[in-house]
Amino acid sequence: MDLLRSEPPETIAEVYSKIERVNVMVEKHPETGVKGLETDLMEMAQKFKCVQCGHCCINLSDAYQTSVPDFDVSRWQYEKRYDILEWVDSFAGLNDVWISPKTHDSVDRCPWLRKLPGKDKYTCRIHETKPIHCRDFPKSKRHALDSGCRGFHT
Ligand code: SF4
Ligand code: SF4
Repeated sequence: MDLLRSEPPETIAEVYSKIERVNVMVEKHPETGVKGLETDLMEMAQKFKCVQCGHCCINLSDAYQTSVPDFDVSRWQYEKRYDILEWVDSFAGLNDVWISPKTHDSVDRCPWLRKLPGKDKYTCRIHETKPIHCRDFPKSKRHALDSGCRGFHT
């Protein structure tokens, strides 16, 4: 934190932007004049519309072959979502998902993805409590365009 505080906001914005793939701008507070960071999350909220194409869940393997933070696991424990927990392998501080409870291997396709009958659309069977990385996708317009998400094309 001391290192971050010692760096100019422009440097922090650049690092944050590269790590999180979010457009980050340095803006001055209109009253105090103090510099702070702004992201394009407002644009996300206004212009993004998920078209349920399923691309992120089908083609981006880091959606379903990854690790989730402890708070995802804690929430599933609190919610008694043993159907989800049996697909999590917690070992050495990591919570790997999704691991088949039958084969104990990583899956090639997310077990929660469902195609809507008669439509070229997909839905998540655990939408109400899906992992944070799924809820946060895409992180920005740039992330959407880079990853092939069509949510800004409508
Ligand atoms: S790729 Fe984008 S538009 Fe398609 S399902 Fe995922 S979030 Fe929605
Ligand atoms: S948990 Fe849901 S949102 Fe996440 S990859 Fe699977 S189907 Fe997609």
